[in-house]
Amino acid sequence: MNIARLTALELASKIREKEISVRQAVDATYEQIEKYDDKLKCYITLCKDEAYKQADEVQKKIDSGQIVSPLAGVPVSVKDNICTKGIKTTCASKMLENYKPVYNATVIDKLENAGMIVIGKLNMDEFSMGSTTETSAHAITSNPWNTDHVPGGSSGGSAAAVAADEAFIALGSDTGGSIRQPGSFCGVTALKPTYGTVSRRGLAAFASSLDQIGPISKTCEDCAALYEIISGKDKYDSTSMDFPEFKFSDAVNNGVKGKKIGILKEFFSDGINNDVKSAVLAASKKLEELGAEIEEFSMPIVKYSVPTYCIIASAEASSNLGRYDGIKYGYSSPDAEDLMQIYIKSRSEGFGLEVKRRIMLGNFVLSSGRYDAYYNKALKTKNLIQKALFDAFEKYDIVLTPVSPETAHKKGESISNPLGMYLDNIYTAIVNIAGVPAISIPCGFDSSGLPIGLQLIGKPFAETTLLGAGCDFQKATDYHKQKPAFTGGAIK
Ligand code: GLN
Repeated sequence: MNIARLTALELASKIREKEISVRQAVDATYEQIEKYDDKLKCYITLCKDEAYKQADEVQKKIDSGQIVSPLAGVPVSVKDNICTKGIKTTCASKMLENYKPVYNATVIDKLENAGMIVIGKLNMDEFSMGSTTETSAHAITSNPWNTDHVPGGSSGGSAAAVAADEAFIALGSDTGGSIRQPGSFCGVTALKPTYGTVSRRGLAAFASSLDQIGPISKTCEDCAALYEIISGKDKYDSTSMDFPEFKFSDAVNNGVKGKKIGILKEFFSDGINNDVKSAVLAASKKLEELGAEIEEFSMPIVKYSVPTYCIIASAEASSNLGRYDGIKYGYSSPDAEDLMQIYIKSRSEGFGLEVKRRIMLGNFVLSSGRYDAYYNKALKTKNLIQKALFDAFEKYDIVLTPVSPETAHKKGESISNPLGMYLDNIYTAIVNIAGVPAISIPCGFDSSGLPIGLQLIGKPFAETTLLGAGCDFQKATDYHKQKPAFTGGAIK
């Protein structure tokens, strides 16, 4: 048996049955990393000592019945902007190259309480700003389906690791599409939860009103199992919400039969790649066969979602990144001779190009004289977009769109074209603007064999609906079982 190829739930069940030990599961992950990560560069940091220590503790607790969580003993990998106590958390930036947090993010505590083993920290775009993982100061991650292509971003390391079985399951973060787009580029399942359902305490902030942590996994069932573990109100995050508890069993049995699905027309017109369009429309037909009611609808205001996103995200980023001043923590320039130089040199040398571009844009839209023309207008547009989407949800349970207009780009193509990079989020940013949940599910391949993703968007707290529909889709299709050739090809 090739352990690394199991889904997280299959592995957990074999651990419960004592067919596989927790140590063997950890071994299997590190072996896979050893084999492929020189080429793929999914990881920034591995924490082997901690992982094996934890594996032994968890094994004892499973054996004595102290942990009964559905993912107990399963290794998990974490995007490098989520704080792990005593383990480097770099945000793929020179600014935090040697930063070791003194506390765990709430989600990490939750993973550990559920008996999951943190394997290492995953590569990403610097401070989550990017769509390709090429803005990382650490390395460029490769797409396991074709290593000349990017894995998407910003959670590119997370998605590529799951696709190449270098991780059973992973955490990413999504501000404008950063969980779903790499999920789609790498052919894995990826959930951006409702804003406020997963604690952001210990997540390095990019744009606080949009950021959300979520699972990246091999199947919708795995995604549901991990979401059950990480979701819930956190008294340490003032934006976290009280909401009906999410239950794995409700979600995976929820089904798609009788659900009303609206196809967002504007997202199937200009600029979409033909293979993407046909795969996503074929997926909607499949959902119809499975009992959903499908209808097209129009929402013209979506054309403002990218500019709205860019203004709000940069404004919040410029304020959030003010904390990296060369004094409190992080990189401090060795050449500074006075206080002003500490600020200027540390920030100039510590941040990469894309991060600086966002800080400048953010300061511009927040400056007096521009505030009303840009930032305030973007906030108003945000409300209008949210209202239009909520109106659609009066009629539909699910809104269906592609995740991205294209499949994974060649390396170098989009980094040299920042405007094009921002347009990558054309179908995903609307979800963060409205604070609603959305899932990316593998639904096909383009003519060169690169994966295509289907996006299902739901009402606030409708993760059960999305995952239910996704589980039905995955029972009826096998796109999620396809694997890059070098990892052994499709799962039978
Ligand atoms: N690609 C988008 C950006 O660069 C989204 C990033 C994200 O979701 N973190 O802003």
